Amino acid sequence: EMFGQLTTGLESAWSKLKGEDTLTKENIVEPMRDIRRALLEADLSLRPSLMLTYIQVSLPVVRRFVQAVSDQAVGTGLIRGVKPDQQMVKIVHDELVKLMGGEVSELVFSKSGPTVILLAGLQGVGKTTVCAKLAYYLKKLGKSCMLIAGDVYRPAAIDQLVILGQQVKVPVYAAGTDVKPAEIARKGLEEAKKQNIDVVIMDTAGRLQIDKTMMDELKEVKRVLNPTEVLLVVDAMTGQEAAALVTTFNLEIGITGAILTKLDGDSRGGAALSVKEVSGKPIKLVGRGERLEDLEPFYPDRMAGRILGMGDVLSFVEKASEVMRQEDAEELQKKIMSAKFDFNDFLKQTRAVARMGSMTRVIGMIPGMGKVTPAQVREAEKSLIVMEAIIEAMTPEERELPELLAESPTRRKRVAQDSGKTEQQVSQLVAQLFQMRVKMKNLMGMMQGGSIPALSN
Ligand code: GDP
Repeated sequence: EMFGQLTTGLESAWSKLKGEDTLTKENIVEPMRDIRRALLEADLSLRPSLMLTYIQVSLPVVRRFVQAVSDQAVGTGLIRGVKPDQQMVKIVHDELVKLMGGEVSELVFSKSGPTVILLAGLQGVGKTTVCAKLAYYLKKLGKSCMLIAGDVYRPAAIDQLVILGQQVKVPVYAAGTDVKPAEIARKGLEEAKKQNIDVVIMDTAGRLQIDKTMMDELKEVKRVLNPTEVLLVVDAMTGQEAAALVTTFNLEIGITGAILTKLDGDSRGGAALSVKEVSGKPIKLVGRGERLEDLEPFYPDRMAGRILGMGDVLSFVEKASEVMRQEDAEELQKKIMSAKFDFNDFLKQTRAVARMGSMTRVIGMIPGMGKVTPAQVREAEKSLIVMEAIIEAMTPEERELPELLAESPTRRKRVAQDSGKTEQQVSQLVAQLFQMRVKMKNLMGMMQGGSIPALSN
């Protein structure tokens, strides 16, 4: 699993906070040590040549991160209704998002003449594949593209790019292996201008290690192209070593961002974590497979969720608050507070929740409710279907005044017959509505008190 080791380390940190009443300077010492270790050990299979840069670059990143988290953990009081370990997850999550640049960073396009994207990176990281994926991605945005084959040290790379170009149906400028990359770049760009191409993507040679010839050549190509974007392609498998790579490339040639590839593979989180911090440049795109369509924008919040092993939960909370807005939360709130929540609202809510996924997962996120198993989720989804059938068999009056059903066995019997469910199921649902009135009122009180941070921000 991608963040296996990292996630285990972090879980150990949370578990040490279970049962605590609050976060203090003292009781976060051990968990913070776990977090530091988890981040640093996320990938230590380093190349010796990069070890020094790693030590200079990665350690301070982690140290700053740990400091920021500690300050917040102790500095902000515990939110009412939230347990210390839950609050810690949230703090770490938000810091991770910040660390990775916060927002999605879009590609920049040139306002005059073709946009030029120069791709750099070590050999085998997926640069050539990224050329094609990027062209595919940009074509979908309505941009015409041209690829320039600049990997003159591997004839196979040029052939590969030509074939990929045919697949994506974009022109490929190639001039063989005898021409210098900078010359290829100049001629390719000229050709693109002639053809009124929107975006030019240049593939360059990669070495197994960073070396001077490679950097000098890249500098020359960059000078000739004057690119809009210089994107360093980084293999996610390189883990923390990426920090060193990014630093070196950024100092040597100056990059505008990075593309993280092979995120589908058996890699950890290290690479994603340090890029922004060490270079000030964001990860713009990620590759998560070998197919042309496997390239997408980089979402720092989703990545943080994945690292924490709770991506589902976090994106779900966001969706939950979105749906609440759509469903006219204020109106609903009034009804809940005055205990007028009826079967119509019930149906609206269950449908809204069904659109999001499953209600039980929301419940699972409410502090103090604990984890929900997949079996419970399936069970709940099944009962949603039953509920809908029963509510649909009610008269409009009965939906608005659940008391009618509570008081009349005859009505319940009719609804049971019409919906094809048992009388017991109908009675249960009616009882549930009344229970829900109470529960939702309490929950709403908690939310207004600001005790569910993810929903209130
Ligand atoms: P280059 O040397 O940097 O140009 O690397 P290539 O583009 O030739 O890719 C090297 C290998 O990695 C190829 O086998 C690709 O199919 C594979 N590859 C590239 N991107 C991804 C990715 O996002 N996921 C996976 N699983 N494989 C990838």
